[in-house]
Amino acid sequence: MCIAVLLKKDVKISEATLKNCWENNDDGAGIGFAYGGNIYIRKGYTKFESFYKSFLEIRQKFNPTMILHFRWATQGKRNTRNCHPFYINKNIMFCHNGVITHIAYDSELSDTYLFNQTVLKKLPIDFYKNEILMELIRRYSSYSKFLFLNNEGQYYILNESAGHWNGGVWYSSEDYSWKRYGYSGNRGTWNKNNYNYESYYQYDYYDNYQNNNKNTKIVKFHDKEYLCVECGIKLYTSIDIDRLLCSKCYYKFIKNT
Ligand SMILES: [Zn+2]
Repeated sequence: MCIAVLLKKDVKISEATLKNCWENNDDGAGIGFAYGGNIYIRKGYTKFESFYKSFLEIRQKFNPTMILHFRWATQGKRNTRNCHPFYINKNIMFCHNGVITHIAYDSELSDTYLFNQTVLKKLPIDFYKNEILMELIRRYSSYSKFLFLNNEGQYYILNESAGHWNGGVWYSSEDYSWKRYGYSGNRGTWNKNNYNYESYYQYDYYDNYQNNNKNTKIVKFHDKEYLCVECGIKLYTSIDIDRLLCSKCYYKFIKNT
């Protein structure tokens, strides 16, 4: 039933643990991290190997606090768009574990995606610093679990006690701790639907990344096609590709603030 993982800077996690998370929730995984005052999302992995490769690259280069999510689809298609984390605005993203019942059913989009569109994106940009708003979210979302990460690398967990800490890592469910045996894996197919980035996650970091230079590109991709994780249009500029957002969607965040 999905698992969200908070992995703080310098804290270790084994490949076997991540593999358990994956095998128990194999409908698409995602990684979120903050670096240099910005948030970044890499998601839509459909193979453990490509997920793990990206995970190691990010850890080794930046050692950031990361949020990870492994999806077990309950509503909506299995595609990159419905993978977590989600950008809420330019300063914060989130992963979710649970079922939000106040959201109308949609065959295309997940309850989490719709909750973000209809609720979280409508809130003030720094809503997560407001205890009352966080309590409203907690109750409105049927007490499901949320893991937020902001552009400063600070995390916020809603319903923290419904998950638990182990070895300095917070897990939203038990799915990391047991190995799936005899799994048939026949839960339907991955919906490409213009949103399959599996082949796009082949990238190298620039070696001479400079934290203070706003215009320095964080990643260098190979000659592949990149699509906006919000609207699906093709991306061309390196700054758009770094964010995996087109400038229109990015400025929508700014306008909302
Ligand atoms: Zn877009």
